[in-house]
Amino acid sequence: MRLNIKDKFNKELPADPVLENKRRQVTKSCFSFVSPTSTSNPELIHVSPEMLKNLGLSESDSRNNQFLEVFTGNSILPNTNPYAMCYGGHQFGQWAGQLGDGRAINLCEVEHQNKNWQLQLKGAGETPYSRSADGLAVLRSSIREYLCSEAMFHLGVPTTRALSLALTGDKVLRDVMYDGNPAYEKGAIVCRVAESFLRFGSYQIFAARQDEETLKTLVDYTIQHHFSQLGKPSPETYIQFFKEVTERTLAMIIHWQRVGFVHGVMNTDNMSILGLTIDYGPYGWLEGYDYGWTPNTTDREHKRYRFGNQPNIGLWNLLQLANTLYPLVNEAQPFENILNQYQADFERLSLEMMRTKLGLYLEDEDDPKLIEELEDILHLTETDMTIFFRSLANFKKDNPKSGMETIKDSFYKPDEVVANIEKRWNGWFMSYAKRLKQESSTDQQRKAKMNTVNPKYVLRNYMAQLAIDDADKGDYAMIDELFQMLKNPYKEQPKFKKWFAKRPEWARHKVGCSMLSCSS
Ligand code: AMP
Ligand code: MG
Repeated sequence: MRLNIKDKFNKELPADPVLENKRRQVTKSCFSFVSPTSTSNPELIHVSPEMLKNLGLSESDSRNNQFLEVFTGNSILPNTNPYAMCYGGHQFGQWAGQLGDGRAINLCEVEHQNKNWQLQLKGAGETPYSRSADGLAVLRSSIREYLCSEAMFHLGVPTTRALSLALTGDKVLRDVMYDGNPAYEKGAIVCRVAESFLRFGSYQIFAARQDEETLKTLVDYTIQHHFSQLGKPSPETYIQFFKEVTERTLAMIIHWQRVGFVHGVMNTDNMSILGLTIDYGPYGWLEGYDYGWTPNTTDREHKRYRFGNQPNIGLWNLLQLANTLYPLVNEAQPFENILNQYQADFERLSLEMMRTKLGLYLEDEDDPKLIEELEDILHLTETDMTIFFRSLANFKKDNPKSGMETIKDSFYKPDEVVANIEKRWNGWFMSYAKRLKQESSTDQQRKAKMNTVNPKYVLRNYMAQLAIDDADKGDYAMIDELFQMLKNPYKEQPKFKKWFAKRPEWARHKVGCSMLSCSS
């Protein structure tokens, strides 16, 4: 296996001088050197061919024993020095102090075809940042991260990627619902890959400790390696940097809203500085279109991270980042301007995104009203987001009366679509048909375009759970089936059409399908 290793993070940034793998507060350093824990009986379950290629590896490399050993933590590539990153974060709105890579270990950085990739094992054992936890990951959450991160990439959503999914052969104790019933589960490791795993919390930790020197070192490093188009670091560049992070964060969240993805734990330690979707924990996909929905049972009470609140939380998190960067600039106004712009841009981009979901390409001043009314009606009875928008592409602008028929498969409880609700739908279809008449495209052209932004296949919560149940029994076929299907989420793919269906009723309240906790 030949990787073009180009380590920068652990060469250019200040390292924790302590080498012992013991939990501690780490100051004035961006990371601590630490080796993965050996695994007893590792077994590869799946490898992403796209990621192999991105890293300059072949499929035969992945069948080599060295690949298995390296990506399950049993051997370290020559001339590499694995490490865990130090970061802090706001969790559910509260400053939580030092967090850090408690169970992620960075192996190395790879350069291939002018792209830089950082390789990281998630679930590879204890680090100085493990706090009271074990540094391990279980199979169920590893499958969820592996499948979803690759699926998100193919949906066109900025995300960290995944190279491999492996069993460790070791057992991991977890109390899934935090109800005093811990049980052993299979341990697993995902090799995650991204240009960088730096998070808002990576910077916050230094500001919180009034360590401006290390803060500046890390920001300058970030600009030099990941935002080099902004030029040499200076107070002006720091503002441009913040602006760029703000824009990328907003763009990512608009994509989430478009495809119905709910991250579930938008703590500032889970916000990538590159605007990538990162840390797939208790995430979920909208089934019924519901702004109030969150998959995360830990967040059931306040629903801070519910679907409709993601754009606001993005802004709240950016405000924390602005506070962090402020000492490097000493001027509040530029940050305030950028945060205000986020709100204006959100309105504009969100409208633009919803227009494309509806197949509207011209601008009409009444569009916001049309969209609002649609969203209101979608909330009246449980209506499947994915099926609704995909079916809506079949709407005929000359026959608004058939609208109901076109989308009827998206209702979970057709009996609840009583007369007054049907009336509102019909009214909306009339307005929609009228609006479509302004557009030049034919029904057929509009359908083709709508189908490039409204996915047919997403990783519904119950689908991941079915793959997990099989994998627990040693059958990995469904992991591969979903992986293959999710590579082309916008294509019809008739052979997978059984997955273009509403969530089955048995999954409505099942753990892992609608109820997910942070226990992973
Ligand atoms: P998360 O909510 O998964 O983003 O994790 C928040 C913090 O807890 C991060 O610092 C993680 O590294 C840490 N963490 C989560 N699970 C574990 C675990 N099993 N062992 C050690 N640290 C963990
Ligand atoms: Mg995290």
